[in-house]
Amino acid sequence: MNKGVQLYEGKAKKVFSTEDPEQLIVSYKDDATAFNGLKKGTIVGKGVINNQMSNRLMQMLEKAGVPTHYISELNERETLVKKVEIVPLEVIVRNISAGSFSKRYGVDEGIVFDSPTLEFSYKNDALGDPLINSYHALALKLATREELDQIRDMAFRVNECLKAFWKTCGVTLVDFKLEFGRLSNGKIVLADEISPDTCRLWDSATGEKLDKDRFRRDLGGVEDAYQEIMKRLNEHI
Ligand code: ADP
Ligand code: UDP
Repeated sequence: MNKGVQLYEGKAKKVFSTEDPEQLIVSYKDDATAFNGLKKGTIVGKGVINNQMSNRLMQMLEKAGVPTHYISELNERETLVKKVEIVPLEVIVRNISAGSFSKRYGVDEGIVFDSPTLEFSYKNDALGDPLINSYHALALKLATREELDQIRDMAFRVNECLKAFWKTCGVTLVDFKLEFGRLSNGKIVLADEISPDTCRLWDSATGEKLDKDRFRRDLGGVEDAYQEIMKRLNEHI
């Protein structure tokens, strides 16, 4: 499949058209941003790791019955995906308190929840991706009730599947962000990426952070953490 025109350049990926109007090529960059684009940098090798990790995990989820946009990996940075109309919601699942949850509710990081939580942010850079509830999403016509129910069910299924997989790698899945989209026939599928950019992953034995928080919080060892988490995945998939 040949790359057509560049349709979009985001913070972490570029998106290209293909000869097939229902398919796109995504190309993963090493660029890293945090705090709604205020902090910018480069994580050498990140694009390759995020591309490969996202593809392996999406293939695993497909086998577990979660439909995704994944079609095929074209090379180490590029993947052919089904084109979707993105539902403009960041769907966040949490197993353990961290990040904005800890900040918003004034609690320490690391509190293990009895059951996972789910929240939505409205995907809107100009507004800073504000927290939004399902009534607001309906009022804004971002998705239908049926779509929101499906998205919730799929997000929790993804959590169970990924949590169990990462456990076998000695890694604790703390939280993550998903995006969903509609195929041309209206079917909802998992889209975008699942990577250390979009998940919090802690070494189960030491608690060491193996994700983008190393970049966000200037903890050092960012590239090494991305390499380590990819190595764990490759050893256990
Ligand atoms: P951002 O837009 O937040 O800067 P990226 O750099 O990751 O993010 O850009 C990738 C863009 O492609 C995102 O806007 C994402 O919602 C969108 N996207 C991901 N998967 C698909 C898909 N299958 N079809 C259409 N758009 C997609
Ligand atoms: N996340 C993401 N993109 C965003 C916001 C959050 O991928 O724009 C991921 C983040 O990596 C973490 C989870 O979603 O795994 C929860 O993030 P949180 O709400 O705690 O926000 P943050 O700490 O990034 O402000």
